[in-house]
Amino acid sequence: MGRMAGKRVLVTGAGSSGEGWGNGKAAAVLYAREGAQVLAADLRREAAEETRDIILKEGGTCEIATGNVAQSKDCSAMVQACVEAFGGIDVLHNNVGIAETGGPVEASEESWNRVIAVNQTSVFLTCKHALPHMVAQGGGSIVNVSSVAALRWIGFPYAAYSASKAAVLALTQNIALQYAGQGIRANCVLPGLMHTPMINAPLADSYGGDVDEMIAKRDRISPTGKMGNAWDTAYAALFLASDEARYINGADLVVDGGLSGRCA
Ligand code: NAD
Repeated sequence: MGRMAGKRVLVTGAGSSGEGWGNGKAAAVLYAREGAQVLAADLRREAAEETRDIILKEGGTCEIATGNVAQSKDCSAMVQACVEAFGGIDVLHNNVGIAETGGPVEASEESWNRVIAVNQTSVFLTCKHALPHMVAQGGGSIVNVSSVAALRWIGFPYAAYSASKAAVLALTQNIALQYAGQGIRANCVLPGLMHTPMINAPLADSYGGDVDEMIAKRDRISPTGKMGNAWDTAYAALFLASDEARYINGADLVVDGGLSGRCA
């Protein structure tokens, strides 16, 4: 029996923004490998299909939905798709996150509003639509992907991203405490410097536009000498989502090789 046998899991942002493994894609595939039925939701149909095809090829179970997590009706439809496909929703894994750099002066108001909507309001919306099902079922587990940028300056201005990821921590704790008596847990994973496709486009600019230099620098900064990867995030999420973590609620699990503990 897998660690997620019998679980019905919705992963948002279950695709990958480029070649290779994003955190959401790895989590969706890992949940399926551990026996879950996975609803892979993404803004881009082809990204969700790619994840589904990997899972089906490995003999797992996966259906897809497309939609924008910044829109309430799309979040409702994603939850509904999971409930209709599998009969309920045991795990809600909020993976979607976009990175736009800049402080209050450099970043446009549009950029601020976009990042807050996609990274922060989305978590409120998916929870709004998933929680009633979890309450009716008598339990569930929510895993929200935040970031060490919620806790620390990461070397350049990242105002909206950091603020949105910090809000995810507070929102998760609120939900964890409000629903603890109803068998529902909510926890966060806080990845540090991970080598995933999402870092290429937006972040390379902050490293002078040179992706190779950015990767080398992120490796150098990492206490282990190497960035983490999508599987490091996915295995942490798997633990929090599973019944192994049944007494872990409102926790922030940092996955950063020790980066955030550094003072020199
Ligand atoms: P990714 O960019 O590879 O994948 C994200 C997926 O989300 C893509 O398939 C994209 O199409 C989808 N998506 C984007 N906007 C969407 C929307 N509005 N609605 C629905 N789907 C949407 O990213 P990833 O590697 O999977 O990482 C995602 C999460 O990890 C984010 O929350 C990010 O902030 C967090 N994180 C990453 C790092 C890192 O170093 N890579 C560090 C800390 C936190």
